[in-house]
Amino acid sequence: MNSYEGKLFHVVTYGCQMNVHESEKIRGILSTLGMLETEDINQAKVIVFNTCCIREGAEDRAYNNIIALKKAKSIDPSKVIVICGCMSQQKKGKYNLKTKLPFVDIILGTHNINSLKEHLLNFDKSHVRIIEILDSATSSMDTEKCIRDDKVNAYVNIIYGCDKFCTYCIVPHVRGREKSRDPKDIYKEVKDLVQNQGYKYITLLGQNVNSYGKDLKDKTSFAELLSYLCKIEGDFKIKFMTSHPMDFGDDMIKVMKTESKIAKFLHLPVQSGSSKVLARMNRHYDIKHYMKIIKKLKRAVPNISLSTDIIVGFPGETDKDYNQTIKLLNKVKYDQVFAFMYSKRTGTPAAEFTDQIEDDIKNTRVNRLLRLQKIIQKDQIKKYFNKTYDCLIQQVNGVAVGITDGGKEIYIPNYRYDNQNYFAKVKVDSIRNHKLSGVIVS
Ligand code: SF4
Repeated sequence: MNSYEGKLFHVVTYGCQMNVHESEKIRGILSTLGMLETEDINQAKVIVFNTCCIREGAEDRAYNNIIALKKAKSIDPSKVIVICGCMSQQKKGKYNLKTKLPFVDIILGTHNINSLKEHLLNFDKSHVRIIEILDSATSSMDTEKCIRDDKVNAYVNIIYGCDKFCTYCIVPHVRGREKSRDPKDIYKEVKDLVQNQGYKYITLLGQNVNSYGKDLKDKTSFAELLSYLCKIEGDFKIKFMTSHPMDFGDDMIKVMKTESKIAKFLHLPVQSGSSKVLARMNRHYDIKHYMKIIKKLKRAVPNISLSTDIIVGFPGETDKDYNQTIKLLNKVKYDQVFAFMYSKRTGTPAAEFTDQIEDDIKNTRVNRLLRLQKIIQKDQIKKYFNKTYDCLIQQVNGVAVGITDGGKEIYIPNYRYDNQNYFAKVKVDSIRNHKLSGVIVS
């Protein structure tokens, strides 16, 4: 029995899918202490902030939300406030959490989430503030339990950290070097999720999934891992993110073409349409290389859905560079684009570049790019007509809907949904007001 048993916890998550999944692990850890989750932060005895520092906005939001708890903590000192994630690992961040937030009880870095339980128990005994920020993981990053919200898609970590050092990115500085999980552990986890828990999509996570295995003894490549996981019996599909164009080889195209359990979807961040800007970003590829992958993929995997990330207004980006990005969008015709204005991250080389772009120029550029993408996406809808897609059949607003691997909804009128999630082939037979309708063909 510990004093946490039967009490409530609340986890606040900022940032990417990696953090979302990390919070699922944190919830699992807290539940092993006998705690229950609450949606209401004010009711919680333990409040965990799982932070992100990839963009300034996420950092500011987290900091302001943590500071807002100062009063509640002074009224009820038995509340335990924990900060973990990228912000706590930063050496030169905007906020020095240790000194600026003295009322926070436990601060953990990115490599020691699985010691959260032990730290909470120690804090319960001593009430002495705990700060543990390790430079690298000293034990496995796997946790004994994980509480997932989503009942259809499950996130599974395959590799931690990143060795790429893009000049704008703080991740390698806060998440450390690449560390791949054992393929057998991944296989076991995926098998359990599919066969015992009924998950339909498994999303494999890593800062750069294509780097998977380089640090393993037997050098299992990511494409080999995918083939291995596809051997698991069951009605499920595999997605993965994030891919890096430099490490995305022909073996990936082959496995995406041949393995039916791999979703026909790829998020392949390009970041800029200008090779000059890519070189300054230290991305290790140029536009020619990127376009080669796109062309090969489109040829090998017809109906593939593509998305990307773009940074607008990187230091030194000229009108010519920016127009090359616009040209790229018109050429590739992504199904979705996540575009961000470049923002300086303290501790990264690009933050020191002297040719920073004015905010109003970045603003104009990003808005123009997003307007263009909206037009492209609207126009893209036509490509679905008369084509057949592998879809997960679900119910949306009382109507049966087939959801493609890329997330597009195809309404299936007059079809009785029987509350089971399953894959079926759906043929699009009509497009009205940018909405797709179709019939199940198998
Ligand atoms: S590949 Fe580049 S952008 Fe992605 S996490 Fe690594 S350093 Fe950051």
